[in-house]
Amino acid sequence: MPERARSIWGWGWADRFPDEDARRDLVEKAGALLAFPNLALLPLPALDRIVLPPPRIEAPPDLAAIVRSDAPERASHTYGRSYRDIVRGFRGDFSRAPDLVAIPSSEDDIARVLEWCAKANAAVIPFGGGTSVVGGVEPEVPARFSGVLSLDMRGMDRVLDVDPISRLARIQAGATGPRLETALAEHGFTLRHYPQSFEFSTLGGWIATRAGGHFATLYTHIDELVASLRMIAPSGRFETRTLPASGAGPSADRLAIGSEGTLGVITEATMRVQARPLHRAKANVDFDRFEDGVEAARAIAQSGLHPSNCRLLDDREAMLFGVAFEKKSVLLLGFESNDHALDAWIDRAIAIAVAAGGRCPEGKKTIGPDAVRGERGTAAELWRSAFLEAPYLQSTLVSLGVVVDTFETACTWTRFPSLHREIIERVRAAMKRACGTGRISCRFTHVYPDGPAPYYTFLAPARLGAELEQWAEIKAAASEALMAHGATITHHHAVGRVHRPWYAREVPPLFLDALGAVKRTLDPHGMMNPGALIAG
Ligand SMILES: Cc1cc2nc3c(=O)[nH]c(=O)nc-3n(C[C@H](O)[C@H](O)[C@H](O)COP(=O)(O)OP(=O)(O)OC[C@H]3O[C@@H](n4cnc5c(N)ncnc54)[C@H](O)[C@@H]3O)c2cc1C
Repeated sequence: MPERARSIWGWGWADRFPDEDARRDLVEKAGALLAFPNLALLPLPALDRIVLPPPRIEAPPDLAAIVRSDAPERASHTYGRSYRDIVRGFRGDFSRAPDLVAIPSSEDDIARVLEWCAKANAAVIPFGGGTSVVGGVEPEVPARFSGVLSLDMRGMDRVLDVDPISRLARIQAGATGPRLETALAEHGFTLRHYPQSFEFSTLGGWIATRAGGHFATLYTHIDELVASLRMIAPSGRFETRTLPASGAGPSADRLAIGSEGTLGVITEATMRVQARPLHRAKANVDFDRFEDGVEAARAIAQSGLHPSNCRLLDDREAMLFGVAFEKKSVLLLGFESNDHALDAWIDRAIAIAVAAGGRCPEGKKTIGPDAVRGERGTAAELWRSAFLEAPYLQSTLVSLGVVVDTFETACTWTRFPSLHREIIERVRAAMKRACGTGRISCRFTHVYPDGPAPYYTFLAPARLGAELEQWAEIKAAASEALMAHGATITHHHAVGRVHRPWYAREVPPLFLDALGAVKRTLDPHGMMNPGALIAG
């Protein structure tokens, strides 16, 4: 059976990209919904005509078995999957392709590749699933390097060991979400970490970027699930001790977590796994006013109930995802447990939301094992399928001439109202200047006792050839609003190359100096993903 191919420029499987009829249909629907003029079926990139610059470096014979330089391999390691990446891929611009792609299958392979790259003056970019949306895997490195090698972890993708007593699993960094969940399911466990990019992103990528799963409270970031890890740095091996907790100084794990490939290659981690949930309860609560939904989300986040889902969609987001068609905000609530029935939890969360001004119409609550599956037509199910389809829709909209992107943050509940107001104002003004018009919507992806993680989607008509400048103007307006209100430049999308200037303003200057000193120790040649996270 031929291997199923991923799209070289857009999201996901190549065979899932809509055909001409489906794209034509979307031109009509999107045109009507968004009221953008001039949407059109743009010609798809002719991938057989893509020209790559010749590789500037050549692997030595002893690495020939694990290093490739063919065009499809190099092209598919040129970009992540942000709007900018999709636009450049759609234009057929792969001029920044890495010179080489290494596919190691052991830590020794990685050590040998790093050793050779140091001698050859090549930059190394660790590559997991390539789903970065912040330029994390892009071979944009300082000119002092003689070439770039993308180090793809797909050859190290196994669950190595499961300890059912302590509920820990040793998993290789290249395992994708489906790969590791299938292997854990054989033992009755789950990692229960589901970023939207789950299908293609990897454990190593999640740890390197401090990814956020889609559960709304408690263990939202991968950080909390890492019991220990191993990393190969240019100056040596780094292995932490597997412990449930420790108060011994600054955490060694946390040096590697979020390092974005700049300190070394994470090769495996021992992860905290859980029994698979057997009880589920879900409900959706409608609000006429977004502000009341915000109050409800805050009260639930501070109640100690810890719902697995507490996702507030504003009216535009609810409409965009087909959850509601009247002008109302919707709070999606969910609870999961392996141990106990959840009737009391969901009833209390609904009562809190109703007290804040919400309505939970008859039939909008489901309890029991089928509360996720078999609930066709409910808001939660509509949301879930639209959530999984959204990345495909983004690539398709790019092919019709739409600027479409998301950005996300976290801030305190106290700051949220003014931050939200200013983001909407500044982004609308930027879309008007750059594109003539546009629309922005908001949802909460995560909620904490001290604040929400709001996630914004913007759509605007593109001017062909000027899309990246249009996007940059909108992105800068959004990022400046975040800085002005003391919010973070990213709650879970990471820093990469795109967010680096704002990250440098967010953290103390002395911390950046200290991070630079750590990098010099672990990576004396500065060759690990230079330009991502910190200046290269
Ligand atoms: C449609 C879509 C939806 C997304 N949804 C979410 C979401 O819900 N939550 C979320 O957090 N993010 C999300 N993202 C962003 C992205 O999926 C995450 O950042 C993810 O963690 C990246 O994993 P990856 O394996 O694809 O890593 P890559 O994109 O390959 O790499 C990301 C960064 O990690 C480094 N890296 C990768 N593997 C290793 C390793 N083994 N050792 C050291 N460094 C490494 C790379 O050098 C790079 O800097 C989404 C992206 C897309 C396109």
